[in-house]
Amino acid sequence: MPPKKQKEVKKKSNVDKSFGMKNKKGSKAKKQIEQMNKQSFDFKKDEMRRQKEEAKFLREQEALTKQLLFNPVVKQPVVAKGVDPKTVLCPMYKLNNCNKGSNCKYSHDANLVANFIKQQNDARKEEEKLKQKEKPKLLNKKGNEVTSTDIICNFMIEMMEKQLWGFRLEEKHMEETQCKYVHQLPEGYIVKTAEQKRLEREMQENMPKITIEQFVEQERESLDKDHLTPLTLDLFKEINLKHKLMRMKIKENRLKKSMSMMMVTNLILSYIERDNKMMMMKRIN
Ligand SMILES: [Zn+2]
Ligand SMILES: [Zn+2]
Repeated sequence: MPPKKQKEVKKKSNVDKSFGMKNKKGSKAKKQIEQMNKQSFDFKKDEMRRQKEEAKFLREQEALTKQLLFNPVVKQPVVAKGVDPKTVLCPMYKLNNCNKGSNCKYSHDANLVANFIKQQNDARKEEEKLKQKEKPKLLNKKGNEVTSTDIICNFMIEMMEKQLWGFRLEEKHMEETQCKYVHQLPEGYIVKTAEQKRLEREMQENMPKITIEQFVEQERESLDKDHLTPLTLDLFKEINLKHKLMRMKIKENRLKKSMSMMMVTNLILSYIERDNKMMMMKRIN
Protein backbone atom coordinates (compact mmCIF):
# COMPACT_ATOMS: atom_id res chain seq x y z
CA MET A 1 0.00 0.00 0.00
CA PRO A 2 1.70 3.18 -1.18
CA PRO A 3 0.07 5.58 1.32
CA LYS A 4 1.46 3.60 4.21
CA LYS A 5 4.96 3.81 2.76
CA GLN A 6 4.63 7.55 2.43
CA LYS A 7 3.67 7.82 6.04
CA GLU A 8 6.70 5.87 7.06
CA VAL A 9 8.89 8.18 5.05
CA LYS A 10 7.28 11.16 6.68
CA LYS A 11 7.78 9.67 10.07
CA LYS A 12 11.41 9.16 9.38
CA SER A 13 11.77 12.73 8.19
CA ASN A 14 10.35 13.90 11.50
CA VAL A 15 13.51 12.77 13.23
CA ASP A 16 15.88 15.61 13.68
CA LYS A 17 18.53 14.70 11.14
CA SER A 18 20.74 17.47 12.24
CA PHE A 19 21.19 15.75 15.58
CA GLY A 20 24.86 15.55 16.32
CA MET A 21 25.70 17.97 13.50
CA LYS A 22 24.73 21.15 15.27
CA ASN A 23 28.07 21.35 16.98
CA LYS A 24 29.97 20.86 13.74
CA LYS A 25 31.59 23.87 12.26
CA GLY A 26 31.76 24.94 8.67
CA SER A 27 29.41 26.43 6.12
CA LYS A 28 28.73 23.05 4.53
CA ALA A 29 27.29 21.67 7.73
CA LYS A 30 25.32 24.89 8.28
CA LYS A 31 23.78 24.65 4.85
CA GLN A 32 22.89 21.07 5.47
CA ILE A 33 21.23 21.95 8.74
CA GLU A 34 19.30 24.77 7.08
CA GLN A 35 18.03 22.44 4.42
CA MET A 36 16.99 19.89 7.01
CA ASN A 37 15.16 22.52 8.99
CA LYS A 38 13.30 23.52 5.86
CA GLN A 39 12.36 19.92 5.25
CA SER A 40 11.17 19.53 8.77
CA PHE A 41 9.16 22.76 8.40
CA ASP A 42 7.48 21.34 5.29
CA PHE A 43 6.77 18.22 7.19
CA LYS A 44 5.21 20.18 10.01
CA LYS A 45 2.95 21.95 7.50
CA ASP A 46 1.98 18.58 6.10
CA GLU A 47 1.32 17.21 9.54
CA MET A 48 -0.86 20.20 10.43
CA ARG A 49 -2.89 19.78 7.28
CA ARG A 50 -3.30 16.11 8.01
CA GLN A 51 -4.47 16.86 11.54
CA LYS A 52 -6.92 19.43 10.22
CA GLU A 53 -8.34 16.91 7.77
CA GLU A 54 -8.60 14.33 10.49
CA ALA A 55 -10.47 16.76 12.76
CA LYS A 56 -12.81 17.64 9.92
CA PHE A 57 -13.51 13.99 9.27
CA LEU A 58 -14.22 13.40 12.96
CA ARG A 59 -16.54 16.41 13.07
CA GLU A 60 -18.45 15.10 10.07
CA GLN A 61 -18.71 11.64 11.59
CA GLU A 62 -19.99 13.15 14.84
CA ALA A 63 -22.61 15.18 13.01
CA LEU A 64 -23.70 12.08 11.11
CA THR A 65 -23.93 10.03 14.29
CA LYS A 66 -25.92 12.77 15.97
CA GLN A 67 -28.25 12.92 13.02
CA LEU A 68 -28.78 9.18 13.22
CA LEU A 69 -29.26 9.29 16.97
CA PHE A 70 -31.46 12.28 17.46
CA ASN A 71 -33.55 12.25 14.34
CA PRO A 72 -36.38 9.79 14.40
CA VAL A 73 -36.29 7.07 11.80
CA VAL A 74 -38.47 8.45 9.04
CA LYS A 75 -40.60 5.96 7.23
CA GLN A 76 -40.83 6.60 3.52
CA PRO A 77 -44.42 7.15 2.47
CA VAL A 78 -46.15 4.38 0.63
CA VAL A 79 -47.31 5.75 -2.67
CA ALA A 80 -50.35 4.10 -4.17
CA LYS A 81 -50.14 2.72 -7.69
CA GLY A 82 -50.63 5.35 -10.34
CA VAL A 83 -49.84 8.22 -7.97
CA ASP A 84 -46.92 10.43 -8.85
CA PRO A 85 -44.50 10.38 -5.87
CA LYS A 86 -43.71 13.99 -6.73
CA THR A 87 -47.13 14.88 -5.32
CA VAL A 88 -46.06 13.51 -1.92
CA LEU A 89 -44.03 15.76 0.33
CA CYS A 90 -40.64 14.26 1.19
CA PRO A 91 -40.75 13.32 4.90
CA MET A 92 -37.02 13.84 5.25
CA TYR A 93 -37.33 17.27 3.66
CA LYS A 94 -40.04 18.10 6.22
CA LEU A 95 -37.40 17.50 8.91
CA ASN A 96 -34.93 19.62 6.96
CA ASN A 97 -32.91 16.49 6.47
CA CYS A 98 -33.09 15.46 2.82
CA ASN A 99 -29.85 15.80 0.89
CA LYS A 100 -31.09 14.35 -2.38
CA GLY A 101 -32.13 17.71 -3.76
CA SER A 102 -33.70 17.53 -7.21
CA ASN A 103 -32.85 13.82 -7.37
CA CYS A 104 -35.31 13.09 -4.57
CA LYS A 105 -38.16 10.81 -5.54
CA TYR A 106 -40.58 12.89 -3.46
CA SER A 107 -41.54 16.52 -3.64
CA HIS A 108 -39.67 19.27 -1.81
CA ASP A 109 -42.34 21.84 -2.64
CA ALA A 110 -44.83 22.09 0.23
CA ASN A 111 -47.09 24.48 -1.69
CA LEU A 112 -47.32 22.17 -4.65
CA VAL A 113 -48.27 19.22 -2.44
CA ALA A 114 -50.80 21.29 -0.48
CA ASN A 115 -52.40 22.38 -3.75
CA PHE A 116 -52.54 18.83 -4.99
CA ILE A 117 -54.20 17.60 -1.77
CA LYS A 118 -56.71 20.48 -1.93
CA GLN A 119 -57.55 19.61 -5.53
CA GLN A 120 -58.08 15.97 -4.57
CA ASN A 121 -60.28 16.90 -1.64
CA ASP A 122 -62.34 19.28 -3.77
CA ALA A 123 -62.87 16.58 -6.37
CA ARG A 124 -63.97 14.14 -3.69
CA LYS A 125 -66.40 16.64 -2.19
CA GLU A 126 -67.88 17.33 -5.61
CA GLU A 127 -68.31 13.61 -6.19
CA GLU A 128 -70.07 13.18 -2.85
CA LYS A 129 -72.39 16.07 -3.64
CA LEU A 130 -73.34 14.46 -6.93
CA LYS A 131 -73.98 11.13 -5.24
CA GLN A 132 -76.19 12.81 -2.66
CA LYS A 133 -78.21 14.39 -5.44
CA GLU A 134 -78.61 11.08 -7.22
CA LYS A 135 -79.99 9.36 -4.14
CA PRO A 136 -83.74 8.93 -4.53
CA LYS A 137 -85.77 10.66 -1.88
CA LEU A 138 -87.34 8.25 0.55
CA LEU A 139 -90.97 8.85 1.32
CA ASN A 140 -92.98 7.31 4.15
CA LYS A 141 -96.63 6.31 3.95
CA LYS A 142 -97.85 9.83 4.61
CA GLY A 143 -95.75 11.07 1.74
CA ASN A 144 -93.24 12.94 3.87
CA GLU A 145 -89.63 12.71 3.03
CA VAL A 146 -87.67 10.45 5.32
CA THR A 147 -84.39 12.03 6.29
CA SER A 148 -81.74 10.28 4.32
CA THR A 149 -79.28 8.16 6.16
CA ASP A 150 -76.11 6.27 5.38
CA ILE A 151 -76.91 3.45 7.77
CA ILE A 152 -77.21 0.15 6.00
CA CYS A 153 -80.23 -1.94 6.89
CA ASN A 154 -79.30 -4.77 9.22
CA PHE A 155 -82.28 -6.80 8.18
CA MET A 156 -81.10 -6.74 4.60
CA ILE A 157 -77.62 -7.97 5.56
CA GLU A 158 -79.11 -10.68 7.74
CA MET A 159 -81.34 -11.87 4.93
CA MET A 160 -78.47 -11.70 2.45
CA GLU A 161 -76.38 -13.92 4.70
CA LYS A 162 -79.25 -16.39 4.69
CA GLN A 163 -79.43 -15.94 0.92
CA LEU A 164 -83.05 -14.87 1.18
CA TRP A 165 -82.82 -11.22 0.13
CA GLY A 166 -84.52 -10.37 -3.09
CA PHE A 167 -86.85 -7.92 -4.78
CA ARG A 168 -90.00 -9.44 -3.27
CA LEU A 169 -88.65 -9.58 0.24
CA GLU A 170 -87.53 -5.96 -0.08
CA GLU A 171 -90.99 -4.91 -1.12
CA LYS A 172 -92.56 -6.78 1.77
CA HIS A 173 -89.98 -5.41 4.20
CA MET A 174 -90.64 -1.85 3.05
CA GLU A 175 -94.39 -2.27 3.32
CA GLU A 176 -94.18 -3.73 6.79
CA THR A 177 -91.58 -1.47 8.39
CA GLN A 178 -91.19 1.61 6.16
CA CYS A 179 -87.51 1.00 6.74
CA LYS A 180 -85.55 4.19 6.24
CA TYR A 181 -82.16 2.55 6.12
CA VAL A 182 -80.19 2.01 2.95
CA HIS A 183 -80.92 -1.17 1.06
CA GLN A 184 -77.74 -1.15 -0.92
CA LEU A 185 -74.36 -2.51 0.02
CA PRO A 186 -71.42 -0.14 -0.06
CA GLU A 187 -68.77 -0.81 -2.65
CA GLY A 188 -66.43 -3.62 -1.71
CA TYR A 189 -68.65 -5.02 1.03
CA ILE A 190 -68.70 -8.80 0.94
CA VAL A 191 -71.65 -10.63 2.41
CA LYS A 192 -70.60 -13.96 3.86
CA THR A 193 -73.08 -16.77 3.96
CA ALA A 194 -73.14 -19.10 6.95
CA GLU A 195 -71.45 -21.74 4.82
CA GLN A 196 -68.67 -19.34 3.80
CA LYS A 197 -68.17 -18.35 7.45
CA ARG A 198 -67.91 -21.99 8.47
CA LEU A 199 -65.37 -22.72 5.73
CA GLU A 200 -63.29 -19.72 6.74
CA ARG A 201 -63.29 -20.79 10.37
CA GLU A 202 -62.17 -24.26 9.37
CA MET A 203 -59.41 -22.85 7.20
CA GLN A 204 -58.12 -20.78 10.07
CA GLU A 205 -58.19 -23.75 12.43
CA ASN A 206 -56.30 -25.87 9.93
CA MET A 207 -53.65 -23.23 9.31
CA PRO A 208 -50.21 -24.41 10.42
CA LYS A 209 -49.48 -22.71 13.71
CA ILE A 210 -46.15 -20.92 13.90
CA THR A 211 -44.17 -19.88 16.92
CA ILE A 212 -43.93 -16.23 17.90
CA GLU A 213 -40.26 -16.21 16.83
CA GLN A 214 -41.20 -17.49 13.38
CA PHE A 215 -43.91 -14.88 13.14
CA VAL A 216 -41.50 -12.06 14.07
CA GLU A 217 -39.00 -13.32 11.50
CA GLN A 218 -41.71 -13.48 8.87
CA GLU A 219 -42.80 -9.93 9.57
CA ARG A 220 -39.20 -8.75 9.55
CA GLU A 221 -38.61 -10.41 6.20
CA SER A 222 -41.55 -8.60 4.66
CA LEU A 223 -40.24 -5.16 5.64
CA ASP A 224 -38.93 -2.83 2.98
CA LYS A 225 -35.26 -3.02 3.89
CA ASP A 226 -34.08 -0.34 1.45
CA HIS A 227 -35.73 2.40 3.44
CA LEU A 228 -34.93 1.23 6.94
CA THR A 229 -31.88 1.41 9.14
CA PRO A 230 -30.85 -2.08 10.17
CA LEU A 231 -30.80 -2.45 13.93
CA THR A 232 -27.34 -3.52 15.01
CA LEU A 233 -26.20 -4.15 18.55
CA ASP A 234 -24.33 -0.83 18.53
CA LEU A 235 -27.32 1.10 17.26
CA PHE A 236 -29.51 -0.62 19.82
CA LYS A 237 -27.11 0.42 22.57
CA GLU A 238 -27.08 3.97 21.25
CA ILE A 239 -30.86 4.15 21.23
CA ASN A 240 -30.98 2.68 24.71
CA LEU A 241 -28.51 5.29 25.92
CA LYS A 242 -30.50 8.05 24.28
CA HIS A 243 -33.66 6.89 26.02
CA LYS A 244 -31.86 6.64 29.32
CA LEU A 245 -30.60 10.22 28.93
CA MET A 246 -34.08 11.38 28.01
CA ARG A 247 -35.58 9.76 31.09
CA MET A 248 -32.90 11.33 33.25
CA LYS A 249 -33.60 14.72 31.73
CA ILE A 250 -37.34 14.35 32.39
CA LYS A 251 -36.68 13.33 35.99
CA GLU A 252 -34.34 16.27 36.44
CA ASN A 253 -36.91 18.70 35.05
CA ARG A 254 -39.59 17.28 37.31
CA LEU A 255 -37.32 17.63 40.30
CA LYS A 256 -36.52 21.22 39.36
CA LYS A 257 -40.20 22.02 39.02
CA SER A 258 -41.16 20.51 42.35
CA MET A 259 -38.20 22.27 43.98
CA SER A 260 -39.28 25.65 42.70
CA MET A 261 -42.87 24.90 43.74
CA MET A 262 -41.63 24.05 47.19
CA MET A 263 -39.64 27.28 47.37
CA VAL A 264 -42.67 29.33 46.38
CA THR A 265 -44.86 27.55 48.92
CA ASN A 266 -42.28 28.10 51.65
CA LEU A 267 -42.03 31.77 50.72
CA ILE A 268 -45.81 32.23 50.89
CA LEU A 269 -45.94 30.38 54.20
CA SER A 270 -43.22 32.61 55.60
CA TYR A 271 -45.15 35.73 54.52
CA ILE A 272 -48.32 34.46 56.19
CA GLU A 273 -46.41 33.65 59.35
CA ARG A 274 -44.83 37.11 59.38
CA ASP A 275 -48.23 38.79 58.84
CA ASN A 276 -49.76 36.72 61.64
CA LYS A 277 -46.94 37.71 63.95
CA MET A 278 -47.41 41.39 63.12
CA MET A 279 -51.14 41.12 63.78
CA MET A 280 -50.44 39.52 67.14
CA MET A 281 -47.97 42.27 68.00
CA LYS A 282 -50.52 44.93 67.09
CA ARG A 283 -53.17 43.23 69.22
CA ILE A 284 -50.81 43.03 72.19
CA ASN A 285 -49.94 46.69 71.79
ZN1 LIG B 1 -36.34 14.47 -0.33
ZN1 LIG C 1 -84.52 -2.27 5.82
